[in-house]
Amino acid sequence: MNNKYIIAFDQGTTSTRTIIFDTQGNIQGISKKELTQYYPQSGWVEHDPNQIYNDQKETFETVLKETGIHPKEIAAIGITNQRETTVVWDKETGEPVYNAIVWLDNRTQDICQTLKNKGLETYVREHTGLVIDAYFSGTKLKWILDTIKGAQEKADAGQLLFGTIDSWLIYKFTNGKQHVTDHTNASRTMLYNIKDLKWDDTLLAALDIPKSMLPEVKTSSSNFGSVTYKDTTIPIYGVAGDQQAALFGQGGSIEGIAKNTYGTGCFLLLNNGKDYVSSKNGLITTLACSLPNEPTHYALEGSIFIGGASIQWLRDKMLLINEAKETEAICNSIPPLKDLYVVPAFAGLGAPYWDANAKGAIYGITLDIGKNEIIKATLEALAYQTKDVIKAMEEDSGKAITTLKVDGGASANNYLMQFQSDLLNVTVDRPKMIEITALGAAMLAGLKAGVWTKKDTESIRKIDHVFSPKMDTKTRTEKYAGWLTAIRRTKTFNEA
Ligand code: ADP
Repeated sequence: MNNKYIIAFDQGTTSTRTIIFDTQGNIQGISKKELTQYYPQSGWVEHDPNQIYNDQKETFETVLKETGIHPKEIAAIGITNQRETTVVWDKETGEPVYNAIVWLDNRTQDICQTLKNKGLETYVREHTGLVIDAYFSGTKLKWILDTIKGAQEKADAGQLLFGTIDSWLIYKFTNGKQHVTDHTNASRTMLYNIKDLKWDDTLLAALDIPKSMLPEVKTSSSNFGSVTYKDTTIPIYGVAGDQQAALFGQGGSIEGIAKNTYGTGCFLLLNNGKDYVSSKNGLITTLACSLPNEPTHYALEGSIFIGGASIQWLRDKMLLINEAKETEAICNSIPPLKDLYVVPAFAGLGAPYWDANAKGAIYGITLDIGKNEIIKATLEALAYQTKDVIKAMEEDSGKAITTLKVDGGASANNYLMQFQSDLLNVTVDRPKMIEITALGAAMLAGLKAGVWTKKDTESIRKIDHVFSPKMDTKTRTEKYAGWLTAIRRTKTFNEA
């Protein structure tokens, strides 16, 4: 039987899915299960690692049954996962010692403060590319060792293992044979030296984490072990954290390619090539998907806390719309805005401003402003915030970005995409494939399996639409200057 298909495991924050792609990159089947969220205390978010594994297994079996595709026709599996989420389990029994602590969970702020007090901020930035923050796995792992009775002793005795969700899934699917991860996931732990590509002894010592707990770090497109199903062995040949997988799926193995995922928040990544650059503008540096026999590339990353969430706010709190997609027709139905800005700093301001106390604001309201104008200004704020991060990336990298690849729910909005192109004065390129993250993981696996060449992966990503800038320079400059004034005033309000 020919190996005609590639499977992607897409283990996300809210759901677990298995997707089958054919060799053209078309989806042949999807199976999905919602993931239970646990909130034991304010600011805490947990998942059940056993549910994650069982759901992944179930969706895998279901999609094979539903499509009638025989396991022998699957060339390889690629895994993409929610990043930073931390699992610690017993090496003997394979049982987690605690729930998975989810990336969003901020219970470890005190541990972060201790690291800062030890003067490690510059060290962390220069060696891991990150800022000291509760998001990343290192302090979550420390919390488990400190809190669970006997965990530190067992860890010191080599009886406990740590992993991000990719490692956990591979460990379970390989019956404990493989304890591995890839460069992209390792680079989110705050324990991995992204310059030397090895676990960082100084940070491990600072957090009292024994090295024996940590997985072996591999190239993103390599052999991670195999899954056995009905007497068929299917290799796992690709692994990447979700945002890096999306960058790869967007063609971002090439230096200079940038992508923005417009979801609840927005995640921007720029492939900045093989030289490490430390950000001076509030971005982080992380590892892009690595390929065999090629130098590892670094990516600059910036996130926008409130992206599509502001459209949900229009719908659920302001009651101005019934559905997110209505915003496109509304924006097209009224003339361009003049000096009206919504600054959706509902959760403070992220990159490049980093003002945790900032609150949202609307500027420029006059008597003729009604609900449609507010809707339009809210949508345009996604584009302005994106421009802020792109500008920071250009300053850090010293490169001009010429095309922005886009994905995520709000990238379906044509008005927003055209406005984004106008504002950035670059082309905005939206692919046909909406499952670009899963496709990225499938591509990593398909490359190693020999199903695709690198050239093939470029043509698999088919373009849906390219938006070209139409706005004149004067208008663009004035509009953005107005936005920067709105940001300045938002910050000043906070200081007053
Ligand atoms: P996530 O993966 O973060 O859950 P999605 O990629 O599914 O997010 O995108 C959903 C977000 O995109 C929601 O916040 C929603 O308000 C927004 N959204 C979806 N469709 C549109 C649209 N046509 N115009 C503007 N925003 C949209």
